[in-house]
Amino acid sequence: MLYDCAVIGGGPAGLNASLVLARGKKTVLLLDDGTPRNAVTQESHNFITRDGIQPADFRKAAHADLNKYDAISYQKKRVNDIIPSEDVFSIRTNDDQEYRVKTMILATGLKDVLPDIEGIHDVYGTSLFACPFCDGWELKDTPLVYIAERGPVFHGVKMFSNWNKDIVVCTNGKETLSTEEKEILAQKQIQVLEDEILRLQSENGQLKKIQFKNGKELEREAGFVSYDMQQAAPFAERLGLEMNEMGGIQTDSYGRTSIKGIYAAGDNASGPPQLIIAASEGNKAAIGVISDFVEDSF
Ligand SMILES: Cc1cc2nc3c(=O)[nH]c(=O)nc-3n(C[C@H](O)[C@H](O)[C@H](O)COP(=O)(O)OP(=O)(O)OC[C@H]3O[C@@H](n4cnc5c(N)ncnc54)[C@H](O)[C@@H]3O)c2cc1C
Repeated sequence: MLYDCAVIGGGPAGLNASLVLARGKKTVLLLDDGTPRNAVTQESHNFITRDGIQPADFRKAAHADLNKYDAISYQKKRVNDIIPSEDVFSIRTNDDQEYRVKTMILATGLKDVLPDIEGIHDVYGTSLFACPFCDGWELKDTPLVYIAERGPVFHGVKMFSNWNKDIVVCTNGKETLSTEEKEILAQKQIQVLEDEILRLQSENGQLKKIQFKNGKELEREAGFVSYDMQQAAPFAERLGLEMNEMGGIQTDSYGRTSIKGIYAAGDNASGPPQLIIAASEGNKAAIGVISDFVEDSF
């Protein structure tokens, strides 16, 4: 079978794209390997009608919507390779199957690369978070630690202080703040600890204290961490797609990339990384795909 469109990645971007494509009378191959970026979290926020939903329940509800459309073939598989050829793309999956598609939407998301600190994975997504818009409300009454060994740290402190002004910044031995920034933070009673971190101590996902290599300890039960983000799948690089200055796939406002027939949507293309924004980008990419089919065939 030659599908009209493959949607690679079944997060909010790919799920919404699949819905719009099916309702636009296109045959859809939805491929997802089930390793979403937000799998570590207990609750998702900011998606109207779904505030506080568990990520797994969000996907379940989405698949219930998709199941109404016979045009969608959903396969829980990892895509290993994408081979472009004249007008048709071949997609190879981890079970050595090959699928042929006319177009595709890359909705493979990003992956978070956390600092290399012992114990960090025990608390990430339960009491240590990355995004104040997602989880700041729940932390507004809890004294915070901000583990900030990279990125625009001063900007991060400013943002987090919108939710809670009781913050201790831990740079884990790195020089991530200028003298002037440290002076401003001191004026605002925001403590900066530049000692190297030994480990994060926790119980059942609940942060208890930060232990430093010099023997110091800081008791904090929640906070934020700065981290790096990478493309979760290697296809943009392998296909030679143009990238934007944020490290995402460059698209127009309907998800079209620098290669005809390949569209991108969600965290891997634009941001800010939010479920509803990814879903909306998926919707727009599907509109792009359908519009281009119409233009080519009318
Ligand atoms: C800890 C945490 C908490 C968050 N909390 C919130 C929140 O409360 N509210 C909010 O709005 N946002 C939140 N976010 C952000 C939100 O999760 C993302 O913005 C959103 O998931 C992006 O959707 P996406 O569809 O682009 O990518 P994803 O949801 O990451 O989905 C990508 C999908 O592609 C699949 N995939 C990747 N590579 C392949 C491959 N080679 N083959 C097959 N499938 C593949 C993955 O398995 C995954 O299912 C949070 C993020 C994190 C990390």
